Amino acid sequence: MDKQTVTGLVLRECAKGEADKLLTLLTAEHGKMTVLGKGVRSLKNKNMVTTQPYCYATFILSKARSGIYYISDSDLTEAFFGLRGDLLTLALAAYVCEVAEACSVEDSADVPLLRLTLNTLYALSQNKKPVRQIKASFEMRCAAVCGFSPDVSGCASCGTDEAPAYYLDILGGELLCPDCMTRRRPEDETVEYSGEWTRPFSPVSPATLGIMRHTLGCDIAKLLAPKLTDAETAEFAAVSERYLLHHLGRGFATLDYYRQFEKLQK
Ligand SMILES: [Zn+2]
Repeated sequence: MDKQTVTGLVLRECAKGEADKLLTLLTAEHGKMTVLGKGVRSLKNKNMVTTQPYCYATFILSKARSGIYYISDSDLTEAFFGLRGDLLTLALAAYVCEVAEACSVEDSADVPLLRLTLNTLYALSQNKKPVRQIKASFEMRCAAVCGFSPDVSGCASCGTDEAPAYYLDILGGELLCPDCMTRRRPEDETVEYSGEWTRPFSPVSPATLGIMRHTLGCDIAKLLAPKLTDAETAEFAAVSERYLLHHLGRGFATLDYYRQFEKLQK
C-alpha cells in the first residue's frame, strides 16, 4: 500500500537533517510505526503541530521509494496541552510514552495499549487526580495489557481471600497470605538459598488489593475512579512500579528523570 491513513499518538521525536523528524507513532491500525515528517520542524509546515510529542492525530501516510512512510497530511485530534504546564506532569508523560513504546510492536494493532496511554495522558493533562495515582494505575494496568497480570483473587497457596494482609510475589505474580509466607521453604527460592529470602515480595494491604483488583478488571474509563488515601497511594505506587519494571526487565531514563522532580515535591 503506497498510501494509508492511520490514527496515532506521537510517542517520540528525533530530529533529522535540516528540518525533518523521525517520529515513533503508536497507531490503532498497525501498532508501533516509524514515520518521517518532512520539513515539520519549520514553523510554516502544515504538519508542524501534529508532529509534536504527545499529539494524537489522523495521519495520511505515503510510502517513499526507500520504503519508509512519510506524513503527507494530518489532522489533530488532541494535543493534551495541559501536560505542558507542570514539570512533574510532563516528566511522567515522557515515562508513559517510553513505556508504551517498549510495550508495543510493529505491524500488530494494540488498541488496549493505545487507549490506556491516551487515557493516562488525558488524566495527566486534566490535573484532576494525584500524579502518583495516575502513574501507578497506568503501570498496573499496563502489566495486564501486556499479558502479565498478577493473580489477585487470593492466596495462591491456601486460597484465602480474607487474609489481614498479603505479599505479592513480584516474579510469580501471585499473592501469599502471612501464614503461607512463613511456611515458605528454601526450595521456593529461585536462586540458591543463602539463609535469606531473595525472591522479591511486596506487601499488599487489603485496601491496596481492592485497588489492584479494580485497576486490573475495570472498564478503562473508570481506571482512576477510586479515591485513595496517601498511605494507599504510596503502597499501590510502590507495588505497581516494582511489578511492571520486573516484568519488562528494564529501567527507563524517563523514570529516573521523573523521580528527580518527585523528590523536589516531597
Ligand atoms: Zn495462604
